[in-house]
Amino acid sequence: MQLMIGESTLELVQGDITKQDTEAIVNAANSRLLGGGGVDGAIHREGGPQIFAECRKIGGCPPGEARITTGGRLRAKYVIHTVGPIYRDGKRGEAETLARAYRSSLALASERGIKSIAFPSISTGAYGYPIELAARIALRTAMDYLEDHSEIKLVRFVLYGPLAYEAYERVLQGLL
Ligand code: ADP
Repeated sequence: MQLMIGESTLELVQGDITKQDTEAIVNAANSRLLGGGGVDGAIHREGGPQIFAECRKIGGCPPGEARITTGGRLRAKYVIHTVGPIYRDGKRGEAETLARAYRSSLALASERGIKSIAFPSISTGAYGYPIELAARIALRTAMDYLEDHSEIKLVRFVLYGPLAYEAYERVLQGLL
């Protein structure tokens, strides 16, 4: 599914974040930036040791912020590492932290002149964020950002498996 926001494209695809040909892909990292499972594990596995070496130098990243490294052996030139919230009960600022994680990643892309970026569904794996709630925040935040920032031409959400894709599609249709 695809839609235009001004001159920019927002797109949903089902697939693997590590295979994307966007200039940057986003990692759903943890705050130590030392790798882990899920998206993080896949990115380090496919991208190779250079990403890990740069992450170690950076030293960490608080929830809601973002840091950038090389894409190593990935097709994407850069990896933007961001840290989403761990979901508890929705009353501990999780929504705001999740929105900030998306905004910080997009702002870093703008700052570096990156025109295309692919996101996974941040926080909806190990961090336990209910997918429909997370999708709403992810999509709303990306749409708002693109309305003010035409320098980014493509934001792609890469959903892992049909259930995640369908959840994002349903939420996006609801937002339109
Ligand atoms: P978090 O710790 O932020 O929850 P995870 O990596 O555990 O991050 O999961 C985030 C989402 O990414 C989950 O919905 C998971 O199914 C999905 N996912 C896992 N591997 C990949 C991949 N290779 N490409 C895209 N999405 C993935």
